[in-house]
Amino acid sequence: MDRRKFSRNIVLSGLSIPAMNLNIPSLKVNPGLYEEEASKLPVREFDVVVAGGGTAGVVAAIAAARAGAKTALIEAKGYPGGTVVEGGTALHSFFNLWRAFPGVEKRQVVKGIPQEIIDRLILIGGTTGHVEMMTRYDYDSVCTSIDTELYKLVVFEMLADSGVTVCVNTVAAGAVKKGSRIDGVITHSHSGNEFLKASCFVDSTAYGDLSAYAGAEFAELNDHPVCNSMGLANVNIEKLYDFLKSNNAAGDIALGPRDGKEGQIIRLGSEGSSNRFATLPPAFVNGVKQLGSGLITTTVHDNYLMFIKVNYKMNASPTNRDEVAKAELTIRQNQYKTLQLFKKYLPGCENAFIARTSPSLNIRRGRTIKCDYDISSQDVLEGRHFEDDIMVYGFHDEAPKLKIKNGGTYGVPYKALRVRGIDNLLAAGMLITSDHDAHMSTRNTVCCMGQGQASGTAAALCALRKCTCRELPYNDLKKELLKNNVYLES
Ligand SMILES: Cc1cc2nc3c(=O)[nH]c(=O)nc-3n(C[C@H](O)[C@H](O)[C@H](O)COP(=O)(O)OP(=O)(O)OC[C@H]3O[C@@H](n4cnc5c(N)ncnc54)[C@H](O)[C@@H]3O)c2cc1C
Repeated sequence: MDRRKFSRNIVLSGLSIPAMNLNIPSLKVNPGLYEEEASKLPVREFDVVVAGGGTAGVVAAIAAARAGAKTALIEAKGYPGGTVVEGGTALHSFFNLWRAFPGVEKRQVVKGIPQEIIDRLILIGGTTGHVEMMTRYDYDSVCTSIDTELYKLVVFEMLADSGVTVCVNTVAAGAVKKGSRIDGVITHSHSGNEFLKASCFVDSTAYGDLSAYAGAEFAELNDHPVCNSMGLANVNIEKLYDFLKSNNAAGDIALGPRDGKEGQIIRLGSEGSSNRFATLPPAFVNGVKQLGSGLITTTVHDNYLMFIKVNYKMNASPTNRDEVAKAELTIRQNQYKTLQLFKKYLPGCENAFIARTSPSLNIRRGRTIKCDYDISSQDVLEGRHFEDDIMVYGFHDEAPKLKIKNGGTYGVPYKALRVRGIDNLLAAGMLITSDHDAHMSTRNTVCCMGQGQASGTAAALCALRKCTCRELPYNDLKKELLKNNVYLES
């Protein structure tokens, strides 16, 4: 491709590169538009490039590398992990919802690399493991809590052990296409801009950046609030629990290992029932409602509430940078106000302080990418399976209102990961499902991780066989997944 055409493709792909890094010799200024001159970028060649090193992307990159593909992972932040270490409460869910359906057998429905992460975390005290809930088990039967910082470390080490080239502090900033294939990704980091060529790509950016740059169809539904979730330290958890209990306000409870001692409170909340929540001091209840914050959290440490969420509903999609800037400030102000309410009204939190916030707000939806199949709420709730299942899953975030039939599972088909119209691009994570009620299941961490293992494995097989994602025989993918401890039910 000549330089001028290369440049034009970059512009069409939505790339925006700061001028200072390109040393541009001459500028052409059109009204409201700046036209970049072509530049020569260093090329690095891989079999598989995974864009987005979050919940799904970490697992995708490990799976691709272990399957024998020379793999690069591009992650905008300084660590891998994504929303699983920034947003949530617990990892939903490695199990079916057996306790809500008397007589239904308990089964672990997600295994493979996601379970390996848990096993590695257990070794260093970074998770409670899978602990059965004492209450609200019609929502989730188990609670799997993590230490966010140790999760980052463990998955970083697993990526390194698998031989992945981990490009942290690196943004996937554009895509260059040849026909219906992506030729490479333009990256931007402190080393400057580079061109990462590969045979197959995975978009696990949550925002769907790579798919959008490559011209895939997408929607921006903006149907969820964004959030920044903080860790509160210096909390007396038992005192807080006693207060909630004496006010009939203790909703979610699970007892498990905390700082090496068994039988401790590792999940605590009062949101499980709005009636319970209402029994707390009205100034507290009204305050947290107005701020979009809540009290439902997990912990693996004695004096620490791992996640206190502060939500905010933006008027625009979280791809709108200027609206995001306003939201980032407002949420940080609301986090401070939430802290003051906790200190004033919740015994046990008198001396609490904010020990951790997310580096940027967490989204529940960015772009939803059009794939060969869009999982529907009927597929999820009826527990449907497909001829090309790559994982099964049994949790729904709206339980007990919405549950998978009979405490069973549904299947995530391979076709739901193939980005429509592009031969060598798979998607994994929160971005694959447009239906609101279906997304409330597929977006959860453990489902995203399972999609990651399948997309990384498939991308490696496609790259090594030099075939498109649609040409890959499903049975070969299934064989490879089963060999690597993925659990299937069809
Ligand atoms: C507030 C909140 C609470 C939640 N609570 C729970 C819960 O309790 N349990 C549960 O199971 N699920 C929960 N979820 C849902 C779940 O955490 C997410 O849906 C899931 O983690 C998303 O995984 P992902 O891989 O799609 O995206 P992410 O984990 O967000 O990964 C995307 C990664 O891509 C990177 N990235 C983005 N754009 C680029 C780019 N252009 N270049 C390079 N890197 C890029 C990001 O930095 C990020 O690391 C919650 C979500 C939120 C927001």
